[in-house]
Amino acid sequence: MSNLEQSPRETECGGIAGVVEPVNELLTGRDVVLGGPRGMKVTRTLPNRDVRMVGAWCFLDHYGPERATMRVPAHPHTGLQTVSWLVEGEVLHRDCLGSEQVIRPGQLNLMTAGRAISHSEESPRDTALHGVQLWVALPSADRETAPGFEHHPVLPSLAGPGFTATVLMGELGGLVSPARTYSPLTGAEISLGEGAEAVIPLRPDFEYAVLSLSGTVLADGTDLAPGPLLYLGAGRSRLTLRAGEPARALLLGGEPFEERIVMWWNFVGRDHDEIVRFRREWMTGDAFGTVPGALGTPLPAPELPGIPLKPRGRHR
Ligand code: MN
Repeated sequence: MSNLEQSPRETECGGIAGVVEPVNELLTGRDVVLGGPRGMKVTRTLPNRDVRMVGAWCFLDHYGPERATMRVPAHPHTGLQTVSWLVEGEVLHRDCLGSEQVIRPGQLNLMTAGRAISHSEESPRDTALHGVQLWVALPSADRETAPGFEHHPVLPSLAGPGFTATVLMGELGGLVSPARTYSPLTGAEISLGEGAEAVIPLRPDFEYAVLSLSGTVLADGTDLAPGPLLYLGAGRSRLTLRAGEPARALLLGGEPFEERIVMWWNFVGRDHDEIVRFRREWMTGDAFGTVPGALGTPLPAPELPGIPLKPRGRHR
């Protein structure tokens, strides 16, 4: 998906030591409508004002469940991976590498932008849609890597009494997702049955956050319904999740990302001049290729703000 805002705010991320202790901090998201008044409403909890990243996870949009149509024309990305995960519905991905892939619930679409990629996304008209779109920032050593696309219809899962944890990205409890990652991290969906209690193994050196996708989960004693992101900090070796009614949660985690980055529109870079170059190359050049079969005309980049974009740390 794309950041379709016409006046995207500069976003601060990356860098410098931070939380090493467990915390339970509810981070309120903001509602963003993608693609105009009849567009799709999403709740964006990353980047957040206070916690801009969780590990290398730097962007989290949760949409649905609602009847909606996703129509995102071709747009560029740099320096990140996009992670697409559905609970309901289907989305067709196309990119400038020639990939054409429908994603369905329980499957992972992972696109590595590396130095430059462009893609489009669409869903069948007016059908039930529910899912998340995430971005993972690439570390400096890998951010110029060649673009790539992966579809993973089968992912490892950890099952316990009344719950199943599906590992989308990275590692959880010794299970490793086949998806390519560039920094130590975790992304998992945890499905809980009525009255279930799940004890999820965590790594004390990772920071974590959890989002409810549906239902209310009790996460380390905090009631969490769909909406806010519960930031958990670091220094934990397990997380207890409970559900009265069936519920579904997304767990994100990773080694704190110590680089300062600049996020602007659909680009992740390291300084203002680089973002200016990405924007110019998208608007005037062919560095991002073209997306065969993409609907509509490619999305124009918004105007840059009047003041220089500054690289930011991962916490406020
Ligand atoms: Mn996108």
